Amino acid sequence: MTELPPPTLRLHIDDAALASNWRALDTLSGKARAGAAVKADCYGLGVDRCVPVLRDAGCRDFFVAHWSEVPAILAHVPADRVAVLHGPSTSDDVEFARATGVRPVIDSLRQATLWTEGGGGPCHLMIDTGINRLGISPGEADAPAIQALNVEVVMSHLACADENSAMNARQLAAFRACLPQVSHKEASLANSAGIALGAEYGFDLTRPGLSLYGGVPRDELADDIRQVVSPQAALIQTREIDAGSTVGYNATFTARRRMKIGVVSLGYADGILRSWAGAYFTQGDRRLPVLGKVSMDMIVLDLSEASELAEGDWVELPYHLPDAARQTTLSQYELLTVLGNRFG
Ligand SMILES: *Cc1c(COP(=O)(O)O)cnc(C)c1O
Repeated sequence: MTELPPPTLRLHIDDAALASNWRALDTLSGKARAGAAVKADCYGLGVDRCVPVLRDAGCRDFFVAHWSEVPAILAHVPADRVAVLHGPSTSDDVEFARATGVRPVIDSLRQATLWTEGGGGPCHLMIDTGINRLGISPGEADAPAIQALNVEVVMSHLACADENSAMNARQLAAFRACLPQVSHKEASLANSAGIALGAEYGFDLTRPGLSLYGGVPRDELADDIRQVVSPQAALIQTREIDAGSTVGYNATFTARRRMKIGVVSLGYADGILRSWAGAYFTQGDRRLPVLGKVSMDMIVLDLSEASELAEGDWVELPYHLPDAARQTTLSQYELLTVLGNRFG
């Protein structure tokens, strides 16, 4: 087929910052090594783009949520270091895990039995110490179905690691109490925020996701974590409008004077939501405020500060995640995963 022309919107991904964030989180993990949560297409940034960078930085352990996410990861890393957090729900899942060699995370007695009856093999085990989402409860650790497993990594997940909550210490204590009950090779508790809670949360392996991609869930991480992703778009049209003219759906912006405006070809379908009050793009140091309502595929910008800009010039949306989270009231996680798939 004829080759597609390049798109007029792109996600700039700073590979060096991504690698640096993994190294920083690995160092902050103390004697534990850092893995990487690469679920949801590396939080929306792209497995093919991010996993090789993480691997080349030294990361060995990769976590996805769904079985459907496995093939993309296996293009880059060995199967026995890929863990599927949601575990096997059906015998098809078991068969797939055994055929590929990826590790299921066993999350319930039912999953334990399904895995063993399907032939079993090395797996990981999730123990729920209070988030009440996935995982066996601590009281189930001595059940025969669990004792029959060949557990490589026993893990749990913190509910409130991004807060100074008493729940963190409670979950740590509950996790520690479970460890002697299940034979295992390694233990893992901390996500990005958990790494910042202190060395005792590290165990053998940490599982950062958000902070790899530039998220700062706790202030302790602010100096070490660099911004990774910047949405950029080309101006596809510029025009002059007169005082009194309005811009966009429902005519919510009215020009007070003659002004130059420009249209960029990204919109809420690309994850730039209408609810982002006061959003602006930049060109160098100059601010280009968003005018009127964000459309599905377009945003109109005030080019008063950059009147030489013309069709084909690129502008950037500031996407420092802690700042953008405050402005949008979205979480830093949502700001990453909401980004659409039309970016080049
Ligand atoms: C998503 C996830 C992580 C990564 O968490 P972040 O807060 O993004 O660092 C770690 N462990 C489990 C079980 C997860 O589901």
